[in-house]
Amino acid sequence: MAGFLFDNMVFGPVFSRRLGVSLGVNLLPVDNKYCNFNCVYCECGWTNNKSAKMVLAKRELLKERLKEKLKEIQGTVNEPDAITFAGNGEPTIHPHFAGIIDDTIELRDKYAPNAAISILSNATMLDRPKVAEALKKVDKNIQKLDSGIEGTFKAINQALGNKSLDSIVEGLLGFDGKLIIQTLFMRAGHNGAIIDNTTEEEIEAWLGIVKKVNPEYVMLYPIERATAAGNIEKIELRELREIADKVEAAGIKVEVYS
Ligand code: SF4
Repeated sequence: MAGFLFDNMVFGPVFSRRLGVSLGVNLLPVDNKYCNFNCVYCECGWTNNKSAKMVLAKRELLKERLKEKLKEIQGTVNEPDAITFAGNGEPTIHPHFAGIIDDTIELRDKYAPNAAISILSNATMLDRPKVAEALKKVDKNIQKLDSGIEGTFKAINQALGNKSLDSIVEGLLGFDGKLIIQTLFMRAGHNGAIIDNTTEEEIEAWLGIVKKVNPEYVMLYPIERATAAGNIEKIELRELREIADKVEAAGIKVEVYS
């Protein structure tokens, strides 16, 4: 399927189930998804990084657009709770990600001091020192961990290249707990196999890693819109709450979104 794409560098504000009134920043192409994962549940559709139209946001232009937008909504009902890096793929892939974070902090401090700078990331670039340092400066450093089992990680996230779950976990441990873990729970049949990160074995392995990472809190959520693979089951709130109870029992804060 083609998938849902954000058609601008700066979009919204939109109401986010996780972040409130959120002004979005898309560093990726406005007409293509660009990612180093190919998650079966991706709302932007399947990854195809070979497209000829891979134009990333230009740092100076983005700064200008963000400034204009923040000035426009300053003091209005649209003043954002969050400035959120999300959009059409993985934001930390952008070669000027660290500089863009510095620009955003400068603009936020001036025009929207109450907005939390938030990143939704897949945790694949944490071995890049500049990326990791930039992420340490933001208010909500939200990193993906969908499974604690290598085979399931591969089946759900379908990392391009040879990214392993171990290398992802190593990156997560580098924040000394100054991060938020995001996990999408799902079940699906895909390529003749069942993918299910909700089993007892899965929860035990995943929670084992979460405990080691010791995040500020954990975000649990199901799919929301149409997904790349067409047959992903939306996990019920009741089941997410049962998983959340286990997280809380381990002494870690958790939020459930449905
Ligand atoms: S990491 Fe995000 S953008 Fe990339 S494939 Fe997964 S859901 Fe889509």
